[in-house]
Amino acid sequence: MHPTLSSDLANIDSLLERTRRHAVEALASLDDRPAALAPPPASIEPLPERGAGLDGALAQFAERWAPGFSGSAGPRYLGFVTGGSTPASLAGDWLTGVYDQNPTAGIDSAAPDLERETVARLRELFGLSEAQQGVFVTGATMSNFVGLALGREWLGERKSVRVFEQGVAALGPVHVLSAVPHSSIYKSLSMLGIGRNAVRKVATLPGREAVDIAALEDALAALNGEPSIVVASAGTVNTVDFDDLQAIYALKARHSFWLHVDAAFGAFAALDPKHAHLVAGLDLADSICIDLHKWLNVPYDAAVQFTRRRDLQVRIFQNSAAYLGAPADNPDFVHLTPENSRRLRALATWFSLAAYGRAGHAEIVTRNIALAQALGRRIGEQAGLRLLAPTRLNVVCFTLEHRPDEARINAYVRAVRDLGDVFITSTVYEGTWGLRVAFTNWRTSEGDIPRIFESLKRALDAVAR
Ligand SMILES: *Cc1c(COP(=O)(O)O)cnc(C)c1O
Repeated sequence: MHPTLSSDLANIDSLLERTRRHAVEALASLDDRPAALAPPPASIEPLPERGAGLDGALAQFAERWAPGFSGSAGPRYLGFVTGGSTPASLAGDWLTGVYDQNPTAGIDSAAPDLERETVARLRELFGLSEAQQGVFVTGATMSNFVGLALGREWLGERKSVRVFEQGVAALGPVHVLSAVPHSSIYKSLSMLGIGRNAVRKVATLPGREAVDIAALEDALAALNGEPSIVVASAGTVNTVDFDDLQAIYALKARHSFWLHVDAAFGAFAALDPKHAHLVAGLDLADSICIDLHKWLNVPYDAAVQFTRRRDLQVRIFQNSAAYLGAPADNPDFVHLTPENSRRLRALATWFSLAAYGRAGHAEIVTRNIALAQALGRRIGEQAGLRLLAPTRLNVVCFTLEHRPDEARINAYVRAVRDLGDVFITSTVYEGTWGLRVAFTNWRTSEGDIPRIFESLKRALDAVAR
């Protein structure tokens, strides 16, 4: 063994203790460090011939890189849809590396069953039936990718084409109907060989981001019996609007389609009694995408993917000729996921669910929604700012009252960032440049609202000059 490696092994206790101390200090200062910062100029240094040992690596990281990291795990990083890491999920994430399991095949470890238990608990959390079977993937993009791969295979089944063997070309053109698909839907269609142009945008209800059911029915009818894929949104990123999942499902009585629901963060509405109706009918979907590194507040990278057609999933992702026949009742994960080897990313989620249960996670969701509503009210009353949509759930979508063009909106985002207290991101909503403030972090509290609002007001002065 190399002497540095063997010395690290001999001193693992004190070395990990020092790492733990670094972690505790980083977490303790989260509230004070900038929510986000302009990336400092990078100096990319070459590979060392002789390493510095863990101690030296930690010192280099602390000096060269950590100061340039954002406070994205903290309470006022409100850009994109982010979320942080609950204490228990963080511990689970550490132990994932400690045990370094590969829960791919079920012959050497209990790890695959831990993933199965975690998926079953998530199914309960979101009120899904046992018909929905799931696996862990890296994020909502991969979850959408798997769901759309299932839809593609299902189209093959309708047309007697074995897409998993013959390829997507044998299927002919694929039609994907959706009102406000997330960008990752296009990316997934590109990866699947279906192509981004397969998306047919369906009209929304007036002033909404939810699909107009009559327009969807017309679009389905125009396909003249050709089966298609419908991608429904359960939580759009700009205004967190929800398609009427039960009404879409009802169209199956007259039209043939695979129903995929992108519920990346909107699925968490199920945890709040006042908003659970928004995801009524989620269980009716053929495939469902739910992100975990957003509103469950587990570290990157984790999402879950559910489907009612696990048999199709085995066809697509099977990794052994032995599985070309009838799928086993309880297939190994290697036959279900895009990856073969993979980390036990379920462990962080397992820890958080075991530690806080349904009630603990529901409290985060309910609190985040209340905070978004409170900020939305303040923004609505503030001169110089204008809400672009009602605050439906946990995202406030607004813009500048005067000249909300791309340059000014981006200048505003930077002005907010450079004040150091808050981070928000830009968007385009119905052709207008705007801003989004997304509440998903478990640490954000009522005390943060005045600080957030103050930054938004002060940034207004900065762009006025
Ligand atoms: C975030 C998000 C995605 C993509 O998720 P990643 O975890 O970044 O891959 C997909 N759909 C919706 C609605 C999202 O909010």
